[in-house]
Amino acid sequence: EYVMVDGRTLDRSAAKVDIEDRGYQFGDGVYEVIRVYNGKMFTGMEHLKRLKESAEKIQMKLPYSPEELLARMEELILKNEVDTGTVYMQFTRGISPRNHVFPGENVATTFVAYTRKVPRPVEPMEKGVCAILDEDIRWLRCDIKSLNLLGNLLSKQRAAEANCFEAILHRGETVTEGSHSNISIVKDGVIITHQADNHILNGITRQKMLEICRNESIPFEERAFSLDELSSADEVFSSGTTVEVMPVVEVAGKPVGNGRPGSVTRQLQALFKAEIERQCGQ
Ligand code: PLP
Repeated sequence: EYVMVDGRTLDRSAAKVDIEDRGYQFGDGVYEVIRVYNGKMFTGMEHLKRLKESAEKIQMKLPYSPEELLARMEELILKNEVDTGTVYMQFTRGISPRNHVFPGENVATTFVAYTRKVPRPVEPMEKGVCAILDEDIRWLRCDIKSLNLLGNLLSKQRAAEANCFEAILHRGETVTEGSHSNISIVKDGVIITHQADNHILNGITRQKMLEICRNESIPFEERAFSLDELSSADEVFSSGTTVEVMPVVEVAGKPVGNGRPGSVTRQLQALFKAEIERQCGQ
């Protein structure tokens, strides 16, 4: 199993992180997860552009361009013989004596990347999953894909303890997103999903889904929706890189619609799969 550290490829057992790495001490860094199907990255460039944007939002400069990173990740996927899986990559603000203030320009970022073999979640995508509700206690820059995930972890842990797949987060009456995915509802054939602002991560899966909706003339609205709208929705689904388009059939112990994955969700799943096959082959 090979991993990449600061641009060098080495065996996983040889990879080390310094105890004063700012990612380790402060969560001072950004990351991405990219899906691999048939040994090819799906929406790789979109993820790498978002990585660059996340870095810029925290005043971090990446030592590689998205194009260079894409080429390096292709190498790693090939070396590790990943067919279906994920690529994880993260940049931290480097190693320096612990201090909240950023180190100088002379301190290099720490870059780590590795792959994992992960199957598509075929069964839950077919049957649907349950979700709990949880107050969104995270900070006000959820648009940054930062390593600071404690708010997300606390919610996901609550969901796991309730044997649920996801925690749907809300700020007061307004639904924002999931602990590790974006949340959309369907009402009278219209998809409604929170607008891309500082309250949510603008998911690449979410963006791809909206692009599909535009092409297929499936109506959608990008706007905040309330807990009441969530509980009276015809369909609810979660979307994300590893979960794709995941039907949510139960929220806070109550069935969504008839308790089975809805027709719009099914249609989106099929169109999404077709897009994967178009980009990565069958
Ligand atoms: N929102 C959060 C909080 C996430 O962690 C993720 C990651 O999967 C998403 C949304 C979905 O983003 P993407 O579709 O880019 O994976």
